[in-house]
Amino acid sequence: KPVETLLEVNNIEVIYNHVILVLKGVSLTVPKGGITALLGGNGAGKTTTLKAISNLLHSERGEVTKGAITYRGEPVQDLSPEALVKRGVVQVMEGRHCFEHLTIEENLLTGAYTRSDGGAAVQADLEMVYNYFPRLRERRKSQAGYTSGGEQQMCAIGRALMSRPETILLDEPSMGLAPQLVEEIFGIVKSLNENEGVSFLLAEQNTNVALRFAHRGYILESGRVVMEGPAAELRENPDVKEFYLGLS
Ligand code: ATP
Repeated sequence: KPVETLLEVNNIEVIYNHVILVLKGVSLTVPKGGITALLGGNGAGKTTTLKAISNLLHSERGEVTKGAITYRGEPVQDLSPEALVKRGVVQVMEGRHCFEHLTIEENLLTGAYTRSDGGAAVQADLEMVYNYFPRLRERRKSQAGYTSGGEQQMCAIGRALMSRPETILLDEPSMGLAPQLVEEIFGIVKSLNENEGVSFLLAEQNTNVALRFAHRGYILESGRVVMEGPAAELRENPDVKEFYLGLS
């Protein structure tokens, strides 16, 4: 059966401060039910692409100056981040961004604020999040600021899940985490994808891990997509091996 396209980024250009051209025509699609990886080194434009999608560039004096972004065929460029969450798209920002003075459980509950179904449904989803992240259940009464980096990353993903998203934009989940925790988090992303049907667009510098868990990948260099394809093909590509996987 044909693959349904959720997100479509079509040839976008992004400029910061009216002069710094950072994205020079980026196109990508996120299919329903997939894990799509956005790869590339430091400064390639991954975060900028995610922020362009969720309309978070204004506070950084950035602007989409060309191209189009649609979700389920409808333009989303003028939607606020909150309106986008209501459409089913939520971003987990780089650096985790939990509220440090709130407990883990309070943080998770803030993720449900855009919902109108309330009460029992929210409690059921809290339970769902704790089932995927047993560590968060153990730490639910702890102030987020006193939990580990891995737990805060889990909290950030868990909070995103509390809005019942169709698509999660996940920025650099591996950042600053030990390899074993990175595996654990990617494993949970995979099972959320398979069992809850959540689609992911994940930005990662860790090409090796990302291409093991993703279905498709895009490689960004200096604001352009230089390569794209099924993850299994990218893993075998000689250039990817040489420049991104460090295997040859
Ligand atoms: P990282 O892994 O470091 O986040 P990235 O691939 O996500 O890298 P971006 O953060 O999107 O890259 O940055 C792309 C380019 O845009 C970089 O050259 C960066 O210096 C520049 N840039 C990012 N934010 C701004 C800003 N607010 N003003 C000016 N330039 C910026």
